[in-house]
Amino acid sequence: MRRAKILATLGPSSSTQEQIEALITAGANAVRINMSHGTSEEHTATVKAARAAAANLNEPISILVDLSGPKIRTRSLEDKKPVLLETDEIFTLTTRDIVGNEKEVSTTFKELPESVKIGGTILLDDGSLELRVEDINDTDVICRVVSGGLLYESKGINLPNTQLPIPSLTDKDRVDLDWAMEQDIDYVALSFVRKAEDCREVKEIIKQKNKRRFGRALLVAKIEKAEAIENLDEIIDATDGLMVARGDLGVETSVELVPVYQKRIISSAIANDKFVITATQMLQSMIDNPRPTRAEASDVANAVWDGTDAVMLSAETAAGNYPVESVRTMAKIIDCAETLKASQLRKPIKFSQEPTGRTSQALCKAAAYCAKEMMTEKIAVFTESGLMARRLSAFRSGLQTYALTSSINARNQLAMIWGVRPFHHDTSDSTEKMLKVGEKTLLENGAVSDGETIVMMAGRLSGLGLSSSVVVWTIGEDVPRR
Ligand code: PEP
Repeated sequence: MRRAKILATLGPSSSTQEQIEALITAGANAVRINMSHGTSEEHTATVKAARAAAANLNEPISILVDLSGPKIRTRSLEDKKPVLLETDEIFTLTTRDIVGNEKEVSTTFKELPESVKIGGTILLDDGSLELRVEDINDTDVICRVVSGGLLYESKGINLPNTQLPIPSLTDKDRVDLDWAMEQDIDYVALSFVRKAEDCREVKEIIKQKNKRRFGRALLVAKIEKAEAIENLDEIIDATDGLMVARGDLGVETSVELVPVYQKRIISSAIANDKFVITATQMLQSMIDNPRPTRAEASDVANAVWDGTDAVMLSAETAAGNYPVESVRTMAKIIDCAETLKASQLRKPIKFSQEPTGRTSQALCKAAAYCAKEMMTEKIAVFTESGLMARRLSAFRSGLQTYALTSSINARNQLAMIWGVRPFHHDTSDSTEKMLKVGEKTLLENGAVSDGETIVMMAGRLSGLGLSSSVVVWTIGEDVPRR
């Protein structure tokens, strides 16, 4: 089984049930709805299609809603077609409500004219186009194109070294977050996080609007600002997981720092039991081509070796010409990367760590040692909220982890977590029954075979038979092994 997971962004190339089923069959474990594009009706239809696709294939799938945050963007273009910005020509960004063309485009950011200075740099589309400000009036910022190219609709605008007068959670984000909680989704990503307080505010809203008993929506803090790098430790404390949002990170800091920050963000997340997603331009050339570049294949493999929980596809699956091929290619690259055993690349992090005094760590370590001693590669973890499975995953023991949960929500959420294959099982009230129910679920899903010895474990489970335990269990027998 593939340990690192695939998160595919949905969009015009991939939002029908049939298209999403094709992505799941090709290897996607989670889908992302980017609130920067589309309408609320479209997003509601996409969530419905994703759920129907997962149900039809009987696969657990996580749904992540990515809030736009204070990202400023260009607006629509004539016929929704890209326009060519010629180097050395004039191009205007305006707050007037117009449909854009090769001379001018509207922006969502009404304060743009007072936020820029003559001579200042404006970057478009993750920095692939560069403008220099030549003149400013009440509504327009008139620029010279320094580095031209194709501009598509609704692309990001970055103003390097400028502190924008906008909060991290915008009014639009609040509306979108309410919608996401109504839709009962699994993950919420917050863009342009600057400090821990940004995360606490969203977590509090999630808590208040939560409708679930288990598997409450988890927060992903997108790390894409220099300020977030400075405050990384406090952000990690305040969030459930992180995203290395390399697109904006490369514009807000600099491209050559992205690999350095990627390593730091991934290792800090895992060391603190948090999940982490690596995002943006992973198979960028596959937007238009059926095969990736060698550099892209290496990039995906390196993110896997860094230990990322999930690798993300953006425009490749949302708007590209080869969405299914992109997922299939990513799956193949992960499969190959994972043949190089984690132990050959780095020591399993947690084994080398100082004792923490935490029960969850003790149980995870005990289970991993137990599996090693019994020469099994498999651990099954009973978990209601999914938390213990996430802890075990962050332990990166390299063992195959099966999560057994009576919560469908927790099962879906765990689909995006490294090395975890989640299954739903019925609850039971005694240790004996629970172990048997777990065994039955694993057998039914072809995860184990008769006579095989595995490790079963549980953290603190309220009202259930098995609690804070590690058990060596042989499939088909009625009692734990002595
Ligand atoms: C990024 O900047 O890398 C990112 C993932 O954010 P978005 O796709 O919202 O620009």
